[in-house]
Amino acid sequence: GGIRGFSSKGGLRLEGVEDIIVVASGKGGVGKSTTAVNLAVALAKRCQLKVGLLDADIYGPSVPTMMKIHDKPEVTEDKKMVPIEMYGVKCISMGFLVEKDAPIVWRGPMVMNALEKLTRGVDWGSLDVLVVDMPPGTGDAQISMTQRLQLSGALIVSTPQDVALIDARRGARMFSKVEVPILGIVENMSYFRCPHCNQDSFIFGKGGTRKTATEMDIDLIGEIPLEGRIREGSDEGIPIVISSPDSIVAEAYGDVALKV
Ligand code: ADP
Repeated sequence: GGIRGFSSKGGLRLEGVEDIIVVASGKGGVGKSTTAVNLAVALAKRCQLKVGLLDADIYGPSVPTMMKIHDKPEVTEDKKMVPIEMYGVKCISMGFLVEKDAPIVWRGPMVMNALEKLTRGVDWGSLDVLVVDMPPGTGDAQISMTQRLQLSGALIVSTPQDVALIDARRGARMFSKVEVPILGIVENMSYFRCPHCNQDSFIFGKGGTRKTATEMDIDLIGEIPLEGRIREGSDEGIPIVISSPDSIVAEAYGDVALKV
C-alpha cells in the first residue's frame, strides 16, 4: 500500500506524445518484450499511427535484438537522444546506454537517472502513441515509471500458468492504485498447435487467464500461441507481424493493436 495516494495523472506528459501505454508483466520471460515489439509494429503498420517504442527493461533490454538495431542513437545539440527508426517505429532502448554483455548492476538512483534519460532525454518528435516495454515486476523502477509519466493505459502480459498469473494480478493492482486504466490482458504461450496433426496442446494450462481476467474485470484481448516463428522472429530481429503478416499470430497482434 506504499504507493496509495500517488496517481499517474500527476505524472509528466512528454512533449509531442499523445498517448503513453505500457506493456507490463509480473514475471520475466513471459513474452512481454515480444508483445511490446509486435504491438508497436502493428500499431504503425495496421493502424497507420506514428509510434515510438521505449525499451525500459533495465535488467534485460531486448529491443535492439528484436528490432535488429545495431547502432547507437545520435545525440542532438541539447543532448537529447534521437530514436532509431525500424519497421516504422521510433525506438529507444536501455541497451543504448550500456555496453552489450556487460552486467547491469545499478542501484536505485542510477536506475532512476537512466529512466529519466530514456523518457525526457529523448527527442521523440510527434507521436500518436509511445509503447513502453516495462521491466518485469512491481518494484521501485516500475512504480517510479508509472508516477513519472502520465500513462494512458497498461497492457498486462501473462502466460496461462498459475505462478505467472499470480504476479500478473499483482501488477494489475499496482496500476489500479496509481489510477492507470488497464487496457487488457494478453495471454502468451496460450497453446501449441502441432504442425503435424494440427491439434492444440495447452502446455501452460487452460482457462486460467480468462478466469483471472473475469475476476479482475479486465478484458482478455489476445491469445498468442507458442510458436517457433515467434521465437525466430525475436532472435533474427524481424517481428512476426513483419515476417509473416498473414499468419494467425500476426492477426492476433493486429487485433490487440486495434483493441488498445
Ligand atoms: P519477457 O519480455 O517477458 O522477459 P520475451 O518477450 O523476451 O519475454 O520472451 C522470452 C523468450 O521467449 C524470447 O526468446 C522470445 O522469443 C520467446 N517467446 C516469447 N513469446 C513466444 C511465443 N508465443 N512463442 C515462442 N516463443 C516465444
